Amino acid sequence: MKIIFTVLFGLLSMYDVFSQELSTRRRAHETTSSGAGEVSTPYHDAQGFESMDDCQATGCPCCIFMHGASSDGSAAALTVCQTDGLESEDVEDIWGISETVTIAGLSFNIFNANTAQSAIIQEVLSVLPPFYLEAVPQNIRIGDPLHGTIQTSPTASMHTVTDHSGHSREILKGDQYEETIGGGSRRCSQINDAYEYIILHPLTFTIASENPRMTLLHEIGHFVDREFAISDHQIRAHRSEFRGYLTSYRGDSRGNDEVIAQGIMYYFLQKYWLRGVRRTATRILPSPRFPAWLRDIIQADIDSRS
Ligand SMILES: [Zn+2]
Repeated sequence: MKIIFTVLFGLLSMYDVFSQELSTRRRAHETTSSGAGEVSTPYHDAQGFESMDDCQATGCPCCIFMHGASSDGSAAALTVCQTDGLESEDVEDIWGISETVTIAGLSFNIFNANTAQSAIIQEVLSVLPPFYLEAVPQNIRIGDPLHGTIQTSPTASMHTVTDHSGHSREILKGDQYEETIGGGSRRCSQINDAYEYIILHPLTFTIASENPRMTLLHEIGHFVDREFAISDHQIRAHRSEFRGYLTSYRGDSRGNDEVIAQGIMYYFLQKYWLRGVRRTATRILPSPRFPAWLRDIIQADIDSRS
């Protein structure tokens, strides 16, 4: 049996969608009265539509997003109906029990997380500068990034796999063993706190080869990039660097925002952790996966907003 090896770190799926559009943040999120009950048109979760008008006509919560699922690797725009969201009555059935935490004055809903998972999520959020924290979606979930469900397969509790010669060994990042590990994010083209989320596979917290801080920071990087259009602004001046970086990048998307997501991840990881221990570094050093030009882009962006 051949072991399929695909790195799904920072897993992209239809849940890890990206967008070039900017929108204005509205953090003072109030759950709006939706006039529920007035619309009885049936709709299906993630049902696709030709246009936003068609989608809204069904009364469903609509989300336009771009995703890199076309066969040629280019982004495709989809208008979909998303039935799961903060305003769903059964949100805790779908996303798990939620806990609301406040980080630097902003509230976040963490779903389906145990105490240790929640602590790591909060630790990561707490190192972000306020302008980046604002870009983070209000909802962060523990679940299956591929399907957006709470349930992961029974293998999610496994810490070892059996290889083709019958030996047991620890699961490594990227092993495809019925389950993909990593994170994902659901991003609409317009900011929508009710639907959007970052989702982290529970195994990212338990397998030694995984680092939940990296996974979360990578996904946060996608939202930061949407908010500030960093990749759009930088691509012209750094086209060859972006292309070169993506050539050796092993996530399953090739969007330019992947580069910025990686940059955000490495920047904050190096600045605030050394081998998993919290610290604050005074200098951020480049490395093969975090080249100086990428570090400088992230640093300049932070400086421009500080
Ligand atoms: Zn990504």
